[in-house]
Amino acid sequence: MVIVGAGFGGIGMAIELRRHGFEQITILERGPELGGTWLYNSYPGCTCDVPSHLYSFSFAQRRDWSRLCSPQSEILAYLRGVARDHGVDGLVVPDTEVTRCRWGDAQRRWSIESADGRRWCADALVIATGQLHQPKIPRLEGAERFRGHSFHSARWDHGYELAGKRVGVVGTGASAIQFIPEIAREVARLTIFQRTGNWFLPRRNRPYPRPLRAAIERIPGLQALRRRLIYAYAESLTVAIRHPRTVGRVGALYSAAFMRRQLRDPELRRRAWPDYPFGCKRILFSSYYLPTLGESHVELVTEPIERLSERGVITADGREWELDCVIWATGFHTERFMYPMEIYGRDGRALHEKWEQEGAHAHLGVTVAGFPSLFLIYGPNTNTSGGSIIHFEETQARYIRQALEQVQARRCAAIEVRPEVEASSDRELQARFDGTAWTMCNSWYRDRSGRIIANWPGYMREYERRLRELDPTEFKFVPLPERKPAMLAA
Ligand code: NAP
Repeated sequence: MVIVGAGFGGIGMAIELRRHGFEQITILERGPELGGTWLYNSYPGCTCDVPSHLYSFSFAQRRDWSRLCSPQSEILAYLRGVARDHGVDGLVVPDTEVTRCRWGDAQRRWSIESADGRRWCADALVIATGQLHQPKIPRLEGAERFRGHSFHSARWDHGYELAGKRVGVVGTGASAIQFIPEIAREVARLTIFQRTGNWFLPRRNRPYPRPLRAAIERIPGLQALRRRLIYAYAESLTVAIRHPRTVGRVGALYSAAFMRRQLRDPELRRRAWPDYPFGCKRILFSSYYLPTLGESHVELVTEPIERLSERGVITADGREWELDCVIWATGFHTERFMYPMEIYGRDGRALHEKWEQEGAHAHLGVTVAGFPSLFLIYGPNTNTSGGSIIHFEETQARYIRQALEQVQARRCAAIEVRPEVEASSDRELQARFDGTAWTMCNSWYRDRSGRIIANWPGYMREYERRLRELDPTEFKFVPLPERKPAMLAA
């Protein structure tokens, strides 16, 4: 078994397989060690906005989280610890960028190649590279002329001293709003270039007071209860998104009241205000970001960026903003999934070409017709706007393990979803977006044609229910290749 990616998805997959007797597993990882998102994103203030009691493996619950939403270092240490405890850390082959995976029609196996020419062979291939791993920097005229420093939020340059500098931040998404209040404390001037305002909900995220922490650690069931309550809260965000004209309105009213309290200056409020329905883009949690906008050395710029000059950013009104450093908080190439990694399935068909023609999709986000025993973790339409992606990934890992057990039990080479099953589940899934907030603005959840390719259209519990038991009738089973005399002789 080869798994590509040693983030939460890949590590969770390896643990699931190991627990069910699958021994020969290799995890290929581009980075220097396991961690995925939590290794690459290390910007100041980096935290998971999903509470840790939910944003953690169900089988490795911890009672000693330092606060509701843990910082990056704590999450990374948790993932390393879980991998070590389950004996899968040693399966990771670091510094290995997979460039090509090819299904052999004759051998009925996958062959996997890395950028430096190494090769692996596998009965099954799991791609666990996720949706948010390729930093995106917009192509702007004059970018090469800019003489200042620049970097992307997901590749934070810790060697660059921001103190006393004139810093520009492009983008105001979930990443930006976490580091802006942190760097505002040290920079001389902070210019924030916003294209779209966002909906905010309060989140102070202070360290747990000692008595609460002690109670969580000592009172049996309290941590499990917190997990259940957080789960229910996360599902309620999805209710608001699914029903924008009813529950969504209540959510918007609550958010607007909070935002009004935080933004006293009417002009600043006007500029920071979102122009799309509540929940269409990710709802942001922070009690610190909006007040930062009102600080005297901080400016919120809503004029579109036109180009870069030697000295800084030039906006559409012709104004030049002189900067020492530009931080791109402009998100990720989400529509590409694992691309530029090339994946060739049966008859040499390329996955990226299939997805370019049809829009990215996979049956339940996991299996793709024409690609035997290829499985995706955090594939198309499995992102969540309110819940925990780890919950989705665990569900997927169990489903994939069941698929592999079917292959073993039937003594065949591989399992492949029937094209008609994939097509009908995709139609059903896409129809479920009708009338939801996700369809009411442009976001990274959609591809160029407007099709929503990132998000699951429903609740966490529905996804779990749908994947709980793999239905073998939805699949074809590829027989083992006939042994050829030459092979027998060998
Ligand atoms: P993002 O949500 O895609 O935000 C990118 C920002 O850059 C947006 O404000 C976008 O504006 C802006 N932008 C993009 N291109 C631009 C351009 N050419 N000119 C001006 N502005 C531009 O990226 P992100 O903040 O890195 O977050 C991505 C996802 O990662 C999140 O949605 C979330 O799923 C995940 N994340 C999670 C956490 C967490 O705590 N769990 C934290 C960070 C990130 P528009 O809105 O107009 O497109």
